[in-house]
Amino acid sequence: MSIQELFENPKDQIGEEEKERRLNQYLECETLLQKFFELVGYCREECAPNAEGIERTFGCCLGEYYHTDRLFHPEAASALELLEQRRVRKYGAPRATTKIEVINMKPCGYHTQEGCALQDHRPPYCISYACNRLVNYILQEFRIDFDSANIHHSLIRMLSGAVDDQEFEKFKVQLQTMLNEAMTFFQSN
Ligand code: SF4
Ligand code: SF4
Repeated sequence: MSIQELFENPKDQIGEEEKERRLNQYLECETLLQKFFELVGYCREECAPNAEGIERTFGCCLGEYYHTDRLFHPEAASALELLEQRRVRKYGAPRATTKIEVINMKPCGYHTQEGCALQDHRPPYCISYACNRLVNYILQEFRIDFDSANIHHSLIRMLSGAVDDQEFEKFKVQLQTMLNEAMTFFQSN
């Protein structure tokens, strides 16, 4: 099956109400993660001003991550499709970008000089991503073990419908606890 056919015929056909339920869970978690990264501030305050070359221009936003999750997680395709529809409705389609030959990658079509154009409805890959430098910083500064892969896995499970209300609440508590710990750090320093 081609990528286009896969996108047009998601394997996990589900009703509209269930898609909305999964998306709402996802968006709640996105809000908590965004608040956490905002508070940590490392990408904006440390990485961006000190980066050089391609990284200075694009940060780590090299790649078409708005497709990645749908390609690798057909079990979550319907909710991911709804996420994408809402994103495009709010922000438009990603702009076409040109491949940078030396790294053989295209910058993300939502990247701007001010950073990501998306205030919300970002792809799971983006809202859970932290590079090694950022992970180390979070560990050293806040004593928080930020596990990108695990958070991404939970988000995909959520969008695939595998997360029941109890597990969802538990996951939210986990994210809220990280956020509280970061807040406490700033209040006491
Ligand atoms: S995740 Fe890492 S590479 Fe990306 S902007 Fe933040 S610090 Fe920089
Ligand atoms: S969607 Fe936003 S955060 Fe994700 S790669 Fe594109 S510009 Fe970066």
